[in-house]
Amino acid sequence: MSSNRIALVTGGSRGIGAATALRLADDGMDVAITYASSPDRAKEVVAGIEERGRRGLAIEADAADADAVVGAVDRTAAELGGLDVLVNNAGIIVSGPLPELTLDDIDRTLSVNVRAALLASQAAAAHLPSGGRIISIGSNLATHVPWPGMTLYSASKSALIGMIKGLARDLGPRGITANIVAPGCTDTDMNPADGPMSDAQRAATALGRYNHVDDIAAAVSYLAGDGGRNVTGTTLVVDAGTNA
Ligand code: NDP
Repeated sequence: MSSNRIALVTGGSRGIGAATALRLADDGMDVAITYASSPDRAKEVVAGIEERGRRGLAIEADAADADAVVGAVDRTAAELGGLDVLVNNAGIIVSGPLPELTLDDIDRTLSVNVRAALLASQAAAAHLPSGGRIISIGSNLATHVPWPGMTLYSASKSALIGMIKGLARDLGPRGITANIVAPGCTDTDMNPADGPMSDAQRAATALGRYNHVDDIAAAVSYLAGDGGRNVTGTTLVVDAGTNA
């Protein structure tokens, strides 16, 4: 595996994506991130990458915009000089009573959580060398749904399971792996550890605690590194035992 590796983390301006971008920079990678609506936060993450002695790049790219997604992959490879690791992290959640889900909710969630991950993976495959990695951030709710109101989100995250299994077969002959890191409740803007549903989520874990974003970044780091070279087509669940 080359020493000057290059990563792209979608949705890297906040939360799990930001922590993952910084962790991959700690691991010695140059890192591009995409963002949709938080340019200032994206700049802070790039500054953090550069403080670690690596090159950083922030690209505005709404994951619901197919051209922007593919453009971000190609721009990363062009400006940073290649692409070794793609992390499909950008995601949204629309939860609530089933009758209230709108067609727009469904289309937007599937565009951001599924279509963008597939398009980015397809575009990345044109650049990834042997040893390349595709890592998608799924959810423990893809395989076990303990609460009502999660149908759309769980459907979107379970689609990634089939996607990475297919990618593992398509790209395995080229020495490229494809996996999911599936977080459980993780303290971010999306799911704050002091939010209205946080006590119930914490109680459902085996360990009695939320994930810190660094717990997820560490799992991505493992799969992206040498130790993950023979792991493909599978899911690493980091949920403090919620699905145990
Ligand atoms: P946050 O809402 O805290 O952060 C989301 C990140 O994704 C931001 O950087 C945001 O960028 C970016 N993003 C959102 N929509 C878009 C879009 N349309 N285009 C580009 N970027 C976008 O979420 P988390 O960090 O909590 O979640 C990250 C991933 O982890 C998601 O896929 C989520 O589903 C998954 N996950 C999270 C869990 C949790 O408990 N937090 C549990 C299980 C899975 P910007 O601000 O610039 O729009």
